[in-house]
Amino acid sequence: MHVLLCEDDDLIACGIVAGLQAQGLTVDRVATAGAARALLQAAHFDVMVLDLGLPDEDGLALLGALRKQGEVLPVLVLTARDTVTDRVAGLEAGADDYLLKPFDLRELCARLHTLLRRVAGRAVNAIEHGPLRYDPSTRQAWLAGQPIDLSRREQALLQALLHSRGRVLSSDQLKDSVYGFTDEVESNALNVHIHHLRRKLGNDIVQTVRGLGYRLGQVQP
Ligand code: CA
Repeated sequence: MHVLLCEDDDLIACGIVAGLQAQGLTVDRVATAGAARALLQAAHFDVMVLDLGLPDEDGLALLGALRKQGEVLPVLVLTARDTVTDRVAGLEAGADDYLLKPFDLRELCARLHTLLRRVAGRAVNAIEHGPLRYDPSTRQAWLAGQPIDLSRREQALLQALLHSRGRVLSSDQLKDSVYGFTDEVESNALNVHIHHLRRKLGNDIVQTVRGLGYRLGQVQP
């Protein structure tokens, strides 16, 4: 899961980044609404965590503007404001969930997973794909009931493919899911992870769509 964190408080932001990374999530952090807009143009994210009190623009104004432009990215709002008026304003601006500061990092992580599941229309935790089962909250994969060891990058790659079942993802979109925006990425790194995933889950798990990218294929047990 690739998270965009928009939070101007360095201390809070560092805590969130470390906490989410420890849970295996890929996080890019920005401190202003302007930087968030720029990064949303440049990369693909699965979810945004948005602080409301930003130095250049109110978080709700940013969210409202993004929704007006048709941005459908799920957004979890972090706020110290907790009145009914604030909550209604947040929902009207297009927030998908709320977390009141101060909060526990484990709760943030759990809420993000719930949010993604809700968006993907799934009621259960694990994703089934033929004989493959994958649990995004624990990042564990099973093949025909046998646990499979995947590296962090392989987990992120598999998760991106599972979340986009039936769709072709360009290699840039896959890189966005697997790496942070600021990570140094070797040019053939994605191919290496795809190779490893194929070795562990069968050659057809990642289908190459010539000239376009990749999509989830079948699993041979
Ligand atoms: Ca703030």
